[in-house]
Amino acid sequence: MNRNEIIQHYKNNPEVPVLIIGGGINGLGVFRDLALQGVHVLLVDQADFCSGTSAASSRMVHGGIRYLENGEFRLVEEAVHERNRLIQNAPHYVKPLATTIPIFTRFSGFLNAPMKFLGMLTKPAERGSYIIKMGLMLYDSYTGKSATVPKHQFWGTKKSLQHFPEMNPEIVNTATYYDGSMRDAERIAIEVMLDGERINADAHALNYVAASGAGRDSVTLTDRETGDTFTVKPQLVINAAGPWIDFVNKAMGNDTNFIGGTKGSHIVVNNQRLFEATRGHEIFFENEDGRIVLIYPLAGRVIVGTTDLYIEDPADAVCTEDEIDYFLEFSKVVFPAIEIKREEIVYSFSGVRPLPTSDANSTGQISRDHHNRIIEPGDLYDFPIFNLVGGKWTSFRAFSEQVTDATLDRLGEIRVDSTDQRPIGGGKDYPLEDEDQEAWIQALAKETETSAERIGMLFDRYGTGAREIALFCADGDDRPLTHAPDYSEREVIWITRTEKVMHINDLLQRRSLLAITGQISTGLLHEMAAIIGNELGWSEESQTKEVEKAQTHLLKWHRAKIS
Ligand SMILES: Cc1cc2nc3c(=O)[nH]c(=O)nc-3n(C[C@H](O)[C@H](O)[C@H](O)COP(=O)(O)OP(=O)(O)OC[C@H]3O[C@@H](n4cnc5c(N)ncnc54)[C@H](O)[C@@H]3O)c2cc1C
Repeated sequence: MNRNEIIQHYKNNPEVPVLIIGGGINGLGVFRDLALQGVHVLLVDQADFCSGTSAASSRMVHGGIRYLENGEFRLVEEAVHERNRLIQNAPHYVKPLATTIPIFTRFSGFLNAPMKFLGMLTKPAERGSYIIKMGLMLYDSYTGKSATVPKHQFWGTKKSLQHFPEMNPEIVNTATYYDGSMRDAERIAIEVMLDGERINADAHALNYVAASGAGRDSVTLTDRETGDTFTVKPQLVINAAGPWIDFVNKAMGNDTNFIGGTKGSHIVVNNQRLFEATRGHEIFFENEDGRIVLIYPLAGRVIVGTTDLYIEDPADAVCTEDEIDYFLEFSKVVFPAIEIKREEIVYSFSGVRPLPTSDANSTGQISRDHHNRIIEPGDLYDFPIFNLVGGKWTSFRAFSEQVTDATLDRLGEIRVDSTDQRPIGGGKDYPLEDEDQEAWIQALAKETETSAERIGMLFDRYGTGAREIALFCADGDDRPLTHAPDYSEREVIWITRTEKVMHINDLLQRRSLLAITGQISTGLLHEMAAIIGNELGWSEESQTKEVEKAQTHLLKWHRAKIS
């Protein structure tokens, strides 16, 4: 069913066992898992899928070595397991990532971890070589026999500077350990959603539909495209609205105080010297204020982040001038000779961690673990509401599994399948070895009479999902886009038709890397408007409005460089 048909269906048949509010990675993860169990489920997001916090992460698939210090051993163990699962289940998008910590002192920090654990240390403090070494040994032990990523290495100054010649010569050690990198975080989320719909004909996901109110046995939904409202009658509601959880409850007539979110921002810079200085490693280090920050090469650009600041309304999250000053300043601590100029910033993004309310003295001490806070049926509603508080992108599958089990329990149903080993989207049947990848590409190039170079590009972009796209592209007149020649017109048509694109930025920001890598031009916005508009039936006037809307959003919220 297409979007209109799904909405019409629920207008005629409002009964739905499970309604999920919020299409970030946690809502989408539960959606896929419930679909896999054969449950009839509807998911709505007030904006596009994966456009909230899940689009603002540092793109690390990690166990969270830092959380060992807070004594969050359960969280680290689960997240390391999930990191390994994601490397195996989404091999097209999640790759092992060498992460290097530059270390400036040897002995500091010995007492920090136990003191933090006992609640006696209330602000971040410096960590030296020995405490980092101990932490990494413990971290390696969680990876255990799975050997999905190599064990850590510790280097002295000389060897470190040979490998990273631009690094600050005052380092006493570097430590390199391995986590995962998810270059295409938004595409993973979209593919999780599409997998859910593919598995189960009774699983439907709608973007640009908001939960806007509730009655005793119903939830009101508003189609943000038309302003139309309709009601559904769920047996159980899952509030997966991330930092908006309390806002959703309020709209449904219930004042809750589950979330005490903190904002984190990043900038994306186009600086070749910095890119090369990282040698492909994420540089993960402690800034002078004790915050853990990162310099992270990704798709030819470098991401620099992040901050951790209390914020009232997630809708206000934007990267500020002060945060940019902070990023430019701390980059010099690690690479003192490299200057990042403001005009090299091609994109920025900011999001709010859906953390639990907390009275911790510093934001870094608030637990990053996840919890299902349940509002039982009672005075206000006949249905229970599960509220998905906290969590990491990395551990979305485990969190989703726990919430799905609790949901099945309430519905009186049982689990019939697991997502643990289940490939995501174009990670299915993905050839892992170089020679197998080459053979895969050559075979598809031959089958579609397309150049191996182009098929290689599609494979890099969509994994084995490239097959359907290449076949579609070969089945009609295709041409490279004038303003992004690595993409083709029929590729954009395919994505629009099959991935629920409603607006230009859905494609530029969440179904491709065109925005985050700073490849937007006015010409590209118009070209996209023409192709997408043709698919969605936009008039010329609507195309112009869509271009203006996309451009305003990219400039206001992302400082996008638009050539
Ligand atoms: C700066 C930063 C860096 C991070 N880095 C990492 C990292 O490197 N690795 C990692 O594992 N984790 C990281 N995280 C954590 C991770 O990104 C989040 O925990 C995760 O994305 C939360 O997902 P979510 O689905 O709960 O929330 P969201 O992604 O915010 O999804 C909630 C959705 O609800 C929708 N919504 C809101 N109101 C309504 C309504 N009324 N009706 C319908 N829909 C509604 C929103 O539009 C949104 O799409 C980071 C977080 C931040 C902020």
